[in-house]
Amino acid sequence: MQKEILPKPENWDVVMLRMAMVIARMSKDPATKVGAVLVSPDRTRISVGYNGFPKQIPDRVEWWNNRDSESQTFSKYELVRHAEMNAITQAKTDLSGWTLYVTHHPCIDCAKNIVAEGIKRVVYSVEAGVVSMMINHDKIAYLFKIAKVEFEQIVIAHDGEKDSLTQ
Ligand SMILES: [Zn+2]
Repeated sequence: MQKEILPKPENWDVVMLRMAMVIARMSKDPATKVGAVLVSPDRTRISVGYNGFPKQIPDRVEWWNNRDSESQTFSKYELVRHAEMNAITQAKTDLSGWTLYVTHHPCIDCAKNIVAEGIKRVVYSVEAGVVSMMINHDKIAYLFKIAKVEFEQIVIAHDGEKDSLTQ
């Protein structure tokens, strides 16, 4: 007689995206909180990251609130490292074949680094255009295509967590 096996309670991709959303809450960015989770091919190891200044740089309100990179003082764009890059740095291991889950559509800069690391799949939730950054979806999708990186969007219900994504 066949033994009964319990069904999986939830889809893995959805769970990992939810984890990325929780990680995003750690971000100090007053405008956009982004979270990323890297998962190894056998799903036994993970690395997480969120958008923020390098840990050696103090989170001065003046810098976080300055969006003008032409000004004399630092702007947040000059100091922030994206969630994807922080998850990559944090992993400190060969990322060939890993999957990246990220709350927001990646930018071209992160995309090329994702390719260079050998990451093979990227799943995001919030589409380009929601954040103030210029993101060209077609170009980025093409980059991933020629590098043979699977790239997909999974829109998940935020059930009250929307504030953690786009404040
Ligand atoms: Zn980026």
